[in-house]
Amino acid sequence: MSNGFKWDADKQSLLLAKMKQPLKIKWSRYFTGKPSSLTVSKTKSGKYFVSILVKEAIKQLPIVNKTVGVDVGIKDLAICSDGVKFNNPRLTNRYAKKLAKASRKLANSRRDFTHKMTSTLINENQVIGIESLKVKNMVKNRKLAKHLHDANFGEIARQLEYKADWYGRKLSAISQWFPSSKMCSECGALYAGQWSLAIRTWTCACGAVHDRDHNAAINIHKEGLRLAA
Ligand SMILES: [Zn+2]
Repeated sequence: MSNGFKWDADKQSLLLAKMKQPLKIKWSRYFTGKPSSLTVSKTKSGKYFVSILVKEAIKQLPIVNKTVGVDVGIKDLAICSDGVKFNNPRLTNRYAKKLAKASRKLANSRRDFTHKMTSTLINENQVIGIESLKVKNMVKNRKLAKHLHDANFGEIARQLEYKADWYGRKLSAISQWFPSSKMCSECGALYAGQWSLAIRTWTCACGAVHDRDHNAAINIHKEGLRLAA
């Protein structure tokens, strides 16, 4: 026993202090040397993860005469001048199925959520004002692109449009140039300084304090009603 744990002879199982049954081990990597501490966590699925801290004295290798040239590539990960090849394990292929399954799940839950949201909006409102977004331009901004993809803007608009049609509601599209964010929804004045995406809240000269997105929604609502009238 060392610090409250014990291996079996072949390190196939690990017995922790206070545990009656040893745990079967699947090693993510091997180590030499003596563990100085061991941290155990348990997942929801009942698996244990054990992380082991090993203080390993690194010894320099004995000098050899051999030298090598290495060409890294795609077919083989590395081809060496002495003829040795390291195969590319093609991890992408190996995990492609798993990835496809996960991405189907992601697409399904995204679609479910979008449907619930657009149905709620259509059920509860006679007129729905919405900004016709500059999605293409926004997607060019790579930081925004991932979030936009997640938010599924194009699909939201598409669903609202046909659901409004089905159920006798009015979708009122606001011009993409309408200054929804930087216009004060209380007095109509435009934000005086340099406008930027970083501004999340602002105070108008009239004294109104705005949350950027909520203010925009109020403006879109008003403009939507104006256009729908
Ligand atoms: Zn104002």
